[in-house]
Amino acid sequence: MKKDILSLNLDELTAEITALGQPKFRAKQIYRWLHKVMVTDFNSMSDISLELRRILDDNFVIFGCSIEKKLVSEYDDTIKYLFRLHDGEFIESVLMKYRYGYTVCVSSQVGCRMGCTFCASTLAGVVRSLNASEILSQIYAISRDNDIRVSHIVMMGMGEPFDNYDNVLRFLRLISDENGLNISMRHISLSTCGIVPGIYKLMEENLQLTLSISLHAPDDNIRSSMMPVNKKWNIAELIAACKEYFEKTSRRISFEYALVNGVNDTEECAYKLASLLKGMLCHVNLIPVNEVTETGCKKSTPERVRRFSDILAKKGFAVTVRRELGSDINAACGQLRRSTVKK
Ligand code: SAH
Repeated sequence: MKKDILSLNLDELTAEITALGQPKFRAKQIYRWLHKVMVTDFNSMSDISLELRRILDDNFVIFGCSIEKKLVSEYDDTIKYLFRLHDGEFIESVLMKYRYGYTVCVSSQVGCRMGCTFCASTLAGVVRSLNASEILSQIYAISRDNDIRVSHIVMMGMGEPFDNYDNVLRFLRLISDENGLNISMRHISLSTCGIVPGIYKLMEENLQLTLSISLHAPDDNIRSSMMPVNKKWNIAELIAACKEYFEKTSRRISFEYALVNGVNDTEECAYKLASLLKGMLCHVNLIPVNEVTETGCKKSTPERVRRFSDILAKKGFAVTVRRELGSDINAACGQLRRSTVKK
């Protein structure tokens, strides 16, 4: 079987190339073609001999993703991609343009098995996890398609990153490698639904990325009704892990809170949330829930969002309400794949 060359780091690639009887410096050239120029085939590697290109082709495969569908928002410059993988599976990625640069939201799995009640990605369960190369290739395909340099990454697409820990870590190291796209860890956010052992594991990696926690509720009753993962690791265990994460890394945690009308957006919830997070250096990101037909969740009214946000702000929290980008193009994760797969 051909090896997945895009998932190899430079040391591993060097070992492979020298094992093929080639000089070491070739590995660096090839790595540059793969991760800086972002070529999709060996034949484009013009300073590599034809013979070596053929050898590479015999031994390795460059996993890419092809654009199946592309939706451009009329309101902002958000672009939603539906990508087809080599085995015919589909994943979604989103390109967002901010004042500070281009951000890509990547998927880490085909589907998801976490079962959050409001989320479209998880409705049909998980099909499989992505390799590091398949996470990378979303960013490479979008960079090529728009001829841009992507500066920020959020792991908030389909899938639960900590349900695919090793491939996600490999991806993070490759995307921040100085021989590749060299995206600073400080420009990367990773979002988890709250797989507590993953948080403990990540704090040992010593990465400067931003950890986002999908909290969405201030008590176990409400959270368990929205997120099955809470029955395995409850809020107390989750918050304890977050506090330790901050102590170890000095990186401020970001809490995501999707506001569902009448479920988790009451004043009482806001006060409970404030006391839950009291004393923590963190950031709270409120998101009016994206309505997905099958979930039946209704988004909070703007008045309820404002009231919730005001309570947190008065309590001294850094709180933002997420701008709803690309609302006309189904930018909420999982909806585009779902509509395609159903057909
Ligand atoms: N599995 C990870 C990352 C992917 S989901 C996680 O749970 O964090 C990325 C973010 O989008 C999470 O905060 C998730 O709870 C949120 N999300 C999912 N469906 C949503 C919806 N319909 N509206 C608003 N946010 C949603």
